[in-house]
Amino acid sequence: MTITSFHPPRRTLMGPGPSDVSERVLQAMARPTVGHMDPTFIGMMDEVKTLLQYAFQTKNELTFAVSAPGSAGMECCFANLVEPGDKVIVCQNGVFGGRMQENVERCGGIAVMVYDDWGTVVDPQKLEAALLENPDAVLVAFVHAETSTGAQSDAKTLVALAHKYDCLAIVDAVTSLTGSPLLVDEWEIDAIYSGSQKCLSAPPGLSPVSFNARAAEKIQQRSTKVQSWFLDLNLVMGYWGGEGKRAYHHTAPVNCLYGLHESLVIVQDEGLGNSWARHQQNHLALRAGLEEMGIGFLVPEQDRLPQLNTVYIPDGVDDALVRSRLLNEFDLEIGAGLGALAGKVWRIGLMGHASNQKNVDFCLNSLRAVL
Ligand SMILES: *Cc1c(COP(=O)(O)O)cnc(C)c1O
Repeated sequence: MTITSFHPPRRTLMGPGPSDVSERVLQAMARPTVGHMDPTFIGMMDEVKTLLQYAFQTKNELTFAVSAPGSAGMECCFANLVEPGDKVIVCQNGVFGGRMQENVERCGGIAVMVYDDWGTVVDPQKLEAALLENPDAVLVAFVHAETSTGAQSDAKTLVALAHKYDCLAIVDAVTSLTGSPLLVDEWEIDAIYSGSQKCLSAPPGLSPVSFNARAAEKIQQRSTKVQSWFLDLNLVMGYWGGEGKRAYHHTAPVNCLYGLHESLVIVQDEGLGNSWARHQQNHLALRAGLEEMGIGFLVPEQDRLPQLNTVYIPDGVDDALVRSRLLNEFDLEIGAGLGALAGKVWRIGLMGHASNQKNVDFCLNSLRAVL
C-alpha cells in the first residue's frame, strides 16, 4: 500500500477551537521557510512581539509566543512563577481551573482551591475569603474565559483582590484574547497566557504569553531552578529578547509564526475594539436564532462569552448523532460538552475569523435541518 498526500476536508469550525483559519493566514504559512536566526525572521519575531503587546494591551517587555499550544503557555506561567512550597489560590469553575491545580502541584506548590459551579463565574467574595484564610498565599490563578462552560469571569476585580492581599495573578486568556475585552496593563495582570487557535484564528501550536515587571522580578529572585528547561523564561528570553543578539535556545516553528504574525496583522487592521464588538454582535445574532428554536443557554447573559456559546441540547435529541450529522452532511464542527456537561450541552464557537453573520446563519440552518 502506498500512502498518498493528506488532503483534509474543508470544514467550518464552530467548536471550542481550533477556529477557522483564513486563506490569508494559510497563505502566509505557505511562504518559504527561512532560518530561525535569519535577520529577516528575527525582524518578524520583533513584529510578533509588538503585535502581541497590542492584542494584550500591554507594554510588557516579556511578551512573546511560547513554541507550543495554550497548555504550554499555562505550564510556562506556573513553572516559572511557582516555587516548591509556594501557596497558590486556584479558582476553578470549569475544566481548565483543574489543570491549573495540576500545574501548581507538579511544580511543588500547594494549591488552595476555590470552587464555583460550572456555568457560573468565579465569585470574588469566595476568593477574598480564601485570601483572608491563607495570608501566606503568594499567587492567585483563574481562567478569564472558561471554554468548557462559556462563562466570563471579572478579571479586573479578581486581579485587584489578589494584589490587595499581596499576591500576583496568573490569568488564563486562551479563549478571551481578541474575542472579548482584555486590558492587561490597565487590569494589572501579572502573568497571562493565550493560544493561537481560538480568537486569533491562527493554527494551533503557539501560545502568546506576557509577564509584567513584578512577575519577572519573582522569576529572577527564585531560589530554585525552573524545573522545565524548555520553558525556563530566563533562557527563553535570550532567544526572543535582546535587540538583535539572539542566543540559540530551540528552533522556533518558523512557518507557524508566519501564521500568527498574519493573524495579528488582521487584528491590528480591524482594530481590537472592533474585534470585540464583532464577537458580541455575532453572539447576539446566534442567540436570537437559537432562542427562536427554543434552545437555551447555560450561562446567564451578563456572564456569557460571546465567542463560546454553551447551549442545552433539546430533550430527546441524540447529542453524538446530531454532531456527526452536522460534520458529515454540512462539514460543520460544533463542540461537545465536557465533564459533567457531556451529553447535556453543545459548545458553539464564534471565534476570530469564524465569527461572522454567514457562519451564524449557516449554523442555525444546519441545526434546524438536522433537528
Ligand atoms: C483551549 C484552552 C486551553 C488549552 O489550550 P491548548 O492549545 O489546547 O493546549 C487552556 N485554557 C483554556 C481556557 C482553553 O480554552
